[in-house]
Amino acid sequence: MADRVETLLKDHPRVRVLREGFPDPEGRCVVYWMQRAQRGKDNAALNLAIALGNALKKPVVAVFGLTANYPGAQERHYHFLIDGLIDAAGDLADRGVRFVLRTGSPDRVVKEFASEVRPAIVIGDDNPIRVGREWRDSVARDLEIPFRCVDADVVVPSSLFPKEEYAARTIRPKIHRVLNDYLKPIPNIKANVQWPIDLAAPMGEALERYDLIKTLNVGGAGRVENYRGGTREAERRLKLFIEKRLPRYATDRNEPTPYMTSELSAHLHFGHIGPLTLALAAIASEAPRESVDVYLEELIVRRELAINYVWRNDRYDRLEGCPEWALGTLAEHRADHRPHLYSSDDLEFARTHDPLWNASQKEMVLTGRMHNYLRMYWAKKILEWTPDAATAFRIAVDLNDRYEMDGRDPNGYTGIAWAIGGKHDRPWPERPIFGTVRFMSYASTSKKFDSNAYIARVRSLEQKILFD
Ligand SMILES: Cc1cc2nc3c(=O)[nH]c(=O)nc-3n(C[C@H](O)[C@H](O)[C@H](O)COP(=O)(O)OP(=O)(O)OC[C@H]3O[C@@H](n4cnc5c(N)ncnc54)[C@H](O)[C@@H]3O)c2cc1C
Repeated sequence: MADRVETLLKDHPRVRVLREGFPDPEGRCVVYWMQRAQRGKDNAALNLAIALGNALKKPVVAVFGLTANYPGAQERHYHFLIDGLIDAAGDLADRGVRFVLRTGSPDRVVKEFASEVRPAIVIGDDNPIRVGREWRDSVARDLEIPFRCVDADVVVPSSLFPKEEYAARTIRPKIHRVLNDYLKPIPNIKANVQWPIDLAAPMGEALERYDLIKTLNVGGAGRVENYRGGTREAERRLKLFIEKRLPRYATDRNEPTPYMTSELSAHLHFGHIGPLTLALAAIASEAPRESVDVYLEELIVRRELAINYVWRNDRYDRLEGCPEWALGTLAEHRADHRPHLYSSDDLEFARTHDPLWNASQKEMVLTGRMHNYLRMYWAKKILEWTPDAATAFRIAVDLNDRYEMDGRDPNGYTGIAWAIGGKHDRPWPERPIFGTVRFMSYASTSKKFDSNAYIARVRSLEQKILFD
């Protein structure tokens, strides 16, 4: 038994040791603290917890701490998250793992739970976002048993990139060098030991959507009808993507009417499906190789570059995280004349002179989505229409985090830093306001796709929502 446990606890690039030690032999169970990887399938963190439980001959219990105070999160995000918890609870039960949901700050929930159930070890899942890191540090400080975190939501472990990468071209060869080592399916092993009936069952909240929403008392941007979270919905979207969209991804992915992309970024954000599952499905598909390669570039290289930025740069959600050359040129152009200046309210309520920008802002508010190409344009125009780059950055992060279903994600902070602060980009010919940060014009952007069809689609969506 000890040998097997030692093998499972050997150093691995996907596992961070937050509290050293061998599992307590007197412990009653193994706790999986589910936070980032909100799924009961294809989850390397859950697998480690189950394998350890089986080796130690102890049951496994998954705990989720649901906080009403996640920065930026709105009612729409909580509905989406609860969809995911419902699926996760079912998938965990199929694997012999008890699921416990408790409301409160996750670090407090985990500490209290551990003192009740007295586990041998706690296994968590990793997350580079500041608030998640603070919760983990707080748990690591106060637990008296070993605590490890598994980097379950990237294909290539983030620990292999210990420094901030300069651009896609610097991380790409490093990823490709090791990619095949990590493109392997995760077996969905089952727990051998059930929670014994003579031990008090750990209690939690019932997974009842409206009671939970009421208890949490969250408001803000409301639920988006027909935009469901959860592993089942992610699997449905994946099937549609592989069959209908991936074959055309290389040529048509910049077209927003209709979308030719996967529309799975929010499910990835909440961990309802993992990037490895998506990558393996694309590779196994019959789509043209070019489309698969372009998709893997977005899903792995671009996404993991964004995750690297957030892990390695503490100022990831502020202008100050952007490169020196961009900060310098933006400062030199700070006093440039701005023909259009809008307040944060004007922007939020889509009251600008630009019909394409207004349509994309409305699409985000109404549906929790915006197409990648339009997100670039959207953020660049916020830089052009507000008094300075730091203000633009703040407004873009605030709107993106509150309205996008996939907001509050490394991809969002990085996308905004790219658009406003030249992150992962290079200097371009100099022009007013932007300096040498890349500019996007209405004239050229609106010609890249059928912008009239897009504006008309958003208008009819708006009318449908307002009048139905
Ligand atoms: C200003 C701005 C803000 C953004 N905000 C967010 C955000 O809040 N959350 C978010 O997940 N993405 C954000 N992005 C990145 C990108 O726009 C979305 O990931 C993409 O539109 C999601 O749609 P999809 O799932 O259909 O993507 P697909 O084209 O199907 O791509 C597959 C996956 O690759 C990843 N990906 C795609 N494009 C990028 C990119 N440019 N950078 C990093 N990863 C990428 C996503 O995880 C995506 O789900 C932002 C980009 C910009 C320019």
